[in-house]
Amino acid sequence: MPLPVLLVIDGDQDALEDVAARLVRRYGLDYRVESASDPEQALGALAELADAGDELALVLAATSLSDATGGGLLQRARQLHPHAKRGLMVAQGAWADPPTAETIVDSIAMGRIDYYVPVPANAPDEVFHHTISTFLLEWATERRKVPDTVHIVGEEWSGRAYELRETFERCAVPHDFCLAESDEGRILLARAGPDAKLPVMLLPDGRALSDPSNAEIAEAAGAPADFDERDFDVVIVGAGPAGLSAAVYGASEGLRTLVVDEGGIGGQARSSSLIRNYLGFPRGVSGHRLAEQAYEQASVFGASFVFMHRVTALSRSREQLTLSLTEGRRVSATAVILATGASYRRLGVPTLEALTGAGVFYGGPASEAHALSGADVFVAGGGNSAGQAVLYLARYARRVTLIVRGASLDAGMSHYLIQEIQATPGIDVRISTTVVGGGGDGRLRQLVLRDASVGNDETVAADALFVLIGTRPHTDWLPPDIARDRTGFLYTGEDVPNHDGWLLERPPSALETSMSRVLAAGDVRHGSVKRVASAVGEGSIAVQLVHNLLAAQQSAEPRSAAGARARPR
Ligand SMILES: Cc1cc2nc3c(=O)[nH]c(=O)nc-3n(C[C@H](O)[C@H](O)[C@H](O)COP(=O)(O)OP(=O)(O)OC[C@H]3O[C@@H](n4cnc5c(N)ncnc54)[C@H](O)[C@@H]3O)c2cc1C
Repeated sequence: MPLPVLLVIDGDQDALEDVAARLVRRYGLDYRVESASDPEQALGALAELADAGDELALVLAATSLSDATGGGLLQRARQLHPHAKRGLMVAQGAWADPPTAETIVDSIAMGRIDYYVPVPANAPDEVFHHTISTFLLEWATERRKVPDTVHIVGEEWSGRAYELRETFERCAVPHDFCLAESDEGRILLARAGPDAKLPVMLLPDGRALSDPSNAEIAEAAGAPADFDERDFDVVIVGAGPAGLSAAVYGASEGLRTLVVDEGGIGGQARSSSLIRNYLGFPRGVSGHRLAEQAYEQASVFGASFVFMHRVTALSRSREQLTLSLTEGRRVSATAVILATGASYRRLGVPTLEALTGAGVFYGGPASEAHALSGADVFVAGGGNSAGQAVLYLARYARRVTLIVRGASLDAGMSHYLIQEIQATPGIDVRISTTVVGGGGDGRLRQLVLRDASVGNDETVAADALFVLIGTRPHTDWLPPDIARDRTGFLYTGEDVPNHDGWLLERPPSALETSMSRVLAAGDVRHGSVKRVASAVGEGSIAVQLVHNLLAAQQSAEPRSAAGARARPR
């Protein structure tokens, strides 16, 4: 297999040679390092690599090339090599100089670069290498060049195979997918036996599971088999940013902690290709990387996770809160943190609902974006999430069309995103338009769009539709005595209306719902700020409140020394 390429472009010959030599010394075994000293030579190299089918992992261009010519160059790099990471090399400390900072911010906003790289100074310069290896890790993760443990074999557009891939991706289980009729697929299917029913899952221990159930998938993803026989201090429902944060703080502070999620880790954040506004990540962080790291962190501290299990009911019996899960399992705890977030509203078009996972996707693009090169893709929605999705898809698709019900983008989308959409080739915006129909033979083939301004319906060919048209909180399953607002978001603390159904003398604590010892954190909460950072913050506060509630309960009802818990740090 030819090695993936790292390309360095710099008009300063000494600097070019220095950077190339450092890359060869550090990465030469796994990557081929090439260099170019002017944009024309670089364009030739980019085209040659594309013609030869070579993979470009990273292209670094010096700031001197970030003028019109350099900008065009990096734009061209993205067209020819959509997966390649693109770094702008700036002098040490120059990111703080206003003109350089402006170049960096503009280049990122216009999608020309992924981030900046300070040129190396001392030898060895570990800050430089940290940036390079972060780029390469992102690239390898997107290109699935991480070791695979679970193989999934299925048909390209089968909804269940898609669900499986999504789940493993969301549970941070390394996996790969191949088509049943491919050479690799045939070899794997032979291991599964002649009666195997698609999709088939081949586990690292050699087991092959035919069309596996959710429980089998959860077990393969690491759920403890006896979780319903254990005692927990706190059960967290939902493994999005709020739930993962509660898991990290709960487990690290000595609480016996279980997290249950109907899918995998990351919640909505999982579908964000780059979160740029999360504290401490100046280069941004993809939602899935943030979630994977939080999951690992919580697991190391001792939190247990059960994926692919939906919580369907919550009841109270004396001091215990009991949650019922799909597959008939039940789990009890002294406190519960509801971190079930929210999800995108459905279109309500039955023919399109039937194609969910087979060309119709709710939420932003993640794993499926790579499969859409050369495709005609549509995004329905007028908010920032829809804007981000359109820009991400434009890297891969032939054409991306944004369908907006309102008469302009201004009402729902940030100005910087509107600018970036206008500046990106291959994107169409259709305002005053809604999706009213569509279908296909087992996968999406066409959409029917209604233009309210002229009042007619048009049928257009479509390979994929991403729906991002508003959120709905995941609270339908909760008992009626947990108070919520008109749209279903949970009241907490002072917002609990007239302390509805509240039987204790003390008022509900800050994140406590109208059922005592049941707290809510993150997007599911009435009045929450719909951001990763606030969900994470609320997850940690919820744990602090759980400590207080357990301590109050302990002082009312002293426990044996064996049952004593660690004190909060
Ligand atoms: C495409 C996109 C891009 C975004 N970009 C940004 C950004 O750049 N910056 C930013 O700050 N924010 C961003 N956000 C918003 C951010 O992702 C959310 O605010 C955040 O994820 C909320 O976290 P949460 O834990 O409260 O809920 P969620 O992330 O919604 O997670 C809830 C979890 O609960 C699970 N669940 C629900 N019901 C049940 C049940 N009954 N049983 C078991 N499990 C259940 C779900 O499966 C899910 O995993 C973005 C969102 C999207 C969709």
